[in-house]
Amino acid sequence: MSITMAVNAGSSSLKFQLFEMPQETVIAKGLVERIGLNDSIFQLEYGNDQEVKVVEDIPTHDRAVEILFHHLEEYKVVEQFDDITGVGHRVVAGGELFKESALVTDEVIAAVDELGEFAPLHNPAEAAVMRAFKERLPKATMAAIFDTSFHTTLPAVNYLYSLPYEYYEDFKARKYGAHGTSHSYVSRRAAEMLGRDYHSMKIITCHLGNGASITAVENGKSVDTSMGFTPLAGVTMGTRTGDIDVSLMPFLMKKLGITDVSEMVNILNKKSGLAGISGVSSDMRDIIAARDAGNERAKLAYEIFVSRIQKYIGQYIAVMNGVDAIVFTAGIGENSSVVREDVINGISAFGATIDSERNNTRKEAIISTEDSRYVVLNVPTNEEVEIAREVERLK
Ligand code: ADP
Repeated sequence: MSITMAVNAGSSSLKFQLFEMPQETVIAKGLVERIGLNDSIFQLEYGNDQEVKVVEDIPTHDRAVEILFHHLEEYKVVEQFDDITGVGHRVVAGGELFKESALVTDEVIAAVDELGEFAPLHNPAEAAVMRAFKERLPKATMAAIFDTSFHTTLPAVNYLYSLPYEYYEDFKARKYGAHGTSHSYVSRRAAEMLGRDYHSMKIITCHLGNGASITAVENGKSVDTSMGFTPLAGVTMGTRTGDIDVSLMPFLMKKLGITDVSEMVNILNKKSGLAGISGVSSDMRDIIAARDAGNERAKLAYEIFVSRIQKYIGQYIAVMNGVDAIVFTAGIGENSSVVREDVINGISAFGATIDSERNNTRKEAIISTEDSRYVVLNVPTNEEVEIAREVERLK
């Protein structure tokens, strides 16, 4: 049996999925949460809906990988570790260095660690997990798949901030974007679904999950994207502000008695967005439920969320001077027909409206009306499969 694992390490989590290749059948998946905190949680799903949940302290990512392998063996998810012939690691920041996925070598791990400057919470954890996997599976093909690679095609006009140019030259201060694997997968899939040439289309992809980003994909290349130097920029998200005027930072720090700027940035990342505006939750389902129950701030949070997406769509129609397709994906994009309808019908002047019957779905579908000037699609993302495919491609 040939198994490929997709691994996604966050600052305090480790998600994994095991595929039997080349069939791409999911044979197991799970996650470790609260790494570095008390009562960490290990969860595993395998076989015919069998589930394992273990609560114990897991102080490091290294230990998380050890426990993962222990349980894969204990529950006979894999017969022998040699069956795992491929591992794909999702990496948040690839900077300008990684324009494509890369085979994991000691040099690549060191570079991922060094790029930690751009993603301090993620890259060091990812580097640690890669090291741990390499030790355990020395024979497997191991690849790093970067969230930023798809956006390395952005032209300077769109990746440069209007700052002194030396800051780019000296420090590589620029827009990098994120969610590249997802934007790449769903835009390509949309072209396939429409039977059109991916390389001669203008597509706007809306990845709306807890983190959210919008990308303009022209002729198969990302030409602009809403996240920035880090994932903090762009549209309103679960707990992130999206775009704000940075002059608010010193103003608020003074008012709040905060002296450490990273504490302020933490508020923008973790306490803002839907959660901050509504005071209810970062979860869109809770926001919609609270709004429907008459909560005014939840209503406002919802409206701001929709409005920021509409503004980015408008921008990207300008950036590409047109649009052939708009794609919705990720937790909110795939599951919330209401969000899709409100976003598109609110900008009907651009030429499309939602067909409410077609839109009543969570699956791949064209959801715009027949007479629309561009097509709107729902395309569930599958970053894990895309990662496994990248590993196969590099074998
Ligand atoms: P992450 O960025 O953590 O991977 P997901 O892509 O899983 O996030 O998206 C999580 C978001 O999707 C949450 O805000 C959740 O409320 C939202 N979501 C999931 N199902 C629905 C639904 N039926 N309607 C509205 N929002 C939904």
